[in-house]
Amino acid sequence: MSETGTAVAFTDEIAARRDELIALTQDLIRIPTLNPPGEAYLEICEYLAARLRARRFDIEMVRAFGTPGDSDKYPRWNVVARREGRMTGACVHFNSHIDVVEVGHGWTTDPFGGELIDGKIYGRGSCDMKGGLAASIIAAEVFIDTHPDFAGAIEISGTADEETGGYGGVAYLAEKGFFDPQRVQHVIIPEPLNKDRVCLGHRGVWWAEIETRGHIAHGSMPFLGDCAVRHMGAVLREFETSLYPALAEKRTAMPVVPEGARQSTMNINSMHGGQAEPEPDFTGFPSACVPDSCRMVVDRRYIIEEDPEDVRREVVDLLEKVSAEREGFSYDLKELWHVSPTMTDENAPVVRSVSKSIEKVLDKSPEYVVSPGTYDQKHIDRIGRLKDCIAYGPGILDLAHQPDEYVGVDDMIDSAKVMALSLKDLLGA
Ligand SMILES: [Zn+2]
Repeated sequence: MSETGTAVAFTDEIAARRDELIALTQDLIRIPTLNPPGEAYLEICEYLAARLRARRFDIEMVRAFGTPGDSDKYPRWNVVARREGRMTGACVHFNSHIDVVEVGHGWTTDPFGGELIDGKIYGRGSCDMKGGLAASIIAAEVFIDTHPDFAGAIEISGTADEETGGYGGVAYLAEKGFFDPQRVQHVIIPEPLNKDRVCLGHRGVWWAEIETRGHIAHGSMPFLGDCAVRHMGAVLREFETSLYPALAEKRTAMPVVPEGARQSTMNINSMHGGQAEPEPDFTGFPSACVPDSCRMVVDRRYIIEEDPEDVRREVVDLLEKVSAEREGFSYDLKELWHVSPTMTDENAPVVRSVSKSIEKVLDKSPEYVVSPGTYDQKHIDRIGRLKDCIAYGPGILDLAHQPDEYVGVDDMIDSAKVMALSLKDLLGA
């Protein structure tokens, strides 16, 4: 039998397990793992553990004690399942986050119902990323059943808190050695990037809070005070006239999607100056005060061609310029969060393997993309020091976090075929 013939024959078993794949996806959606606050993590980890233990995976349940949000009420549970092959060899790890974001408004289906309508399964987390988790489980199970003598090992993890930074999930596991290149050689994260795309990495992130300071006084005599909001206005003016145009010039060779993110960007997340916003049911008037503080949080996304130190220096230089030109101006800069950009080489083993599998299953060349925002690959790269990592999974990225989020069953089957073929390739079966 030809190589393609063999490939098709064994992956046909995935299509034969369509009902099982649907039921698994629905079960996962029906466990409402909302984050924040981090609901039902133990329940979903126990569900995954029971399923994979029955298929002779070794199970480790790992609570990320002391990480942000971890408490006895909302413990940060993770599950890592490992199935050893007959002989030693490489390990392929599928990592999925188990948490989902808030439901929000505008749903016409039950967000935790897992309804199947016209070949699509609806629910919060269906696309991002319980559909991908289910597809990877079916792919691994079919591969093991059809290649019982495989060499190496397969791991499947369900991890907490990706939507809030991943500190109680992949970051914690990486610190505990779960992504040590001695233990794991190839990682596939089944995030919803579309079944014909290989996501190589993501841009970098730098978050900072800038505060301008003033002097409080009566609002009828502002000349007796010093308005921190006007000082911030001077910072904004400098952003508009120098920083934003400079960022637009910084184009990247990273294949970031969407196209608009193929450059450096900066969002102003929030701004607050002066007295606190009143409670919604407060009916009184504000008082007359000159604001003595104004705070702004910026979310700067940077490209692999930039030096992270320059990202910070650019903002500091701008603030220093305003400081030199403007009487009474003083500021504080507090860095809140920093993530380096990461991009796996197109010739890395996992990229080549998944690309070949996409060509076989979908009869087309894959598109290589880079995510505008970060995901758990950052921790696998930075803490785990494991470079052979991509995101690949079913689902349409734009549907993530939207009302009436869904995942297509055919897309899950196709991407499960790609994952199973990649297992065969990477494990040399
Ligand atoms: Zn996700």
